[in-house]
Amino acid sequence: MPELPEVETVMKGLTPFMLDATIAEVDQRRPNLRVPFPDKMRQRLEGRNVTQLYRRAKYIIIVLDDDQNLIIHLGMSGRILIVRAGEDYEIKKHDHLILTLQDGVRIVYNDPRRFGMVFMVAGDELNNHPSFSALGPEPLGNEFSAPILTERLKGKKSNIKQALLDQRVVAGVGNIYACEALFQAGIHPEVEAGKIKSTRAEALTHAIKDVLARAIEAGGSTLKDYRHVNDELGYFQHSFKVYDQEKKACGACDCDVDKTSGIKRIVQSGRSTFYCPQKQKKTEQKKTQ
Ligand SMILES: [Zn+2]
Repeated sequence: MPELPEVETVMKGLTPFMLDATIAEVDQRRPNLRVPFPDKMRQRLEGRNVTQLYRRAKYIIIVLDDDQNLIIHLGMSGRILIVRAGEDYEIKKHDHLILTLQDGVRIVYNDPRRFGMVFMVAGDELNNHPSFSALGPEPLGNEFSAPILTERLKGKKSNIKQALLDQRVVAGVGNIYACEALFQAGIHPEVEAGKIKSTRAEALTHAIKDVLARAIEAGGSTLKDYRHVNDELGYFQHSFKVYDQEKKACGACDCDVDKTSGIKRIVQSGRSTFYCPQKQKKTEQKKTQ
């Protein structure tokens, strides 16, 4: 499932092809993904020039010259391929939308599970749109800070892991990076969110920014190799410290796998959480507060 760094990488990968480009042709191959494709999408997109691309939470926002926004969410399994001008490309089963740019480059949206979304919102309505109006601050932006995090966690009875997945607290932090950030900050995932004190919030804010920035950097390095046809954007090799590392040593403390069984997996609100019980102690949390 693409998380914020993947979405950022996809957006950055699209930018050199789409920025200032004109959408020449729209091939919509089915009526819907998770939601219907925009009404009259072809008419609304063909001939439009792309003036800006950016990311908000896990949405890719493509700004058009008529002040409409074409918005893409990759859902669970959405992928974007770039097919160079003049290159052969055989349309695949799950290719649901193909945008051909004026220079012949094709942008192919493929999504086997179809949890993704493609929709359009007028520029002046974007902040009031249900997908955006309740979003918390961008984790990598200056508006996301320890005091803001503390404020947003205040009174929350849910555990901190669950709170980090709440898009109103901070936008776009998914399951993987919530685990990684809690690990880096040394915070047990079951600690009550409202009880995180300001010093811990400081460490957690820093950890969230750090794990996301490092993942984006790793993704960015994969972009350099985009020389071939059918390039797939946004999925790259990660090195996770705890995520999906059950029973391994975390490498950040002296936990002895034989004695402690290493990294632990628990399920919180239906999602797997991975943590190191040595580095992320509930009791230690109490002492430091
Ligand atoms: Zn450890």
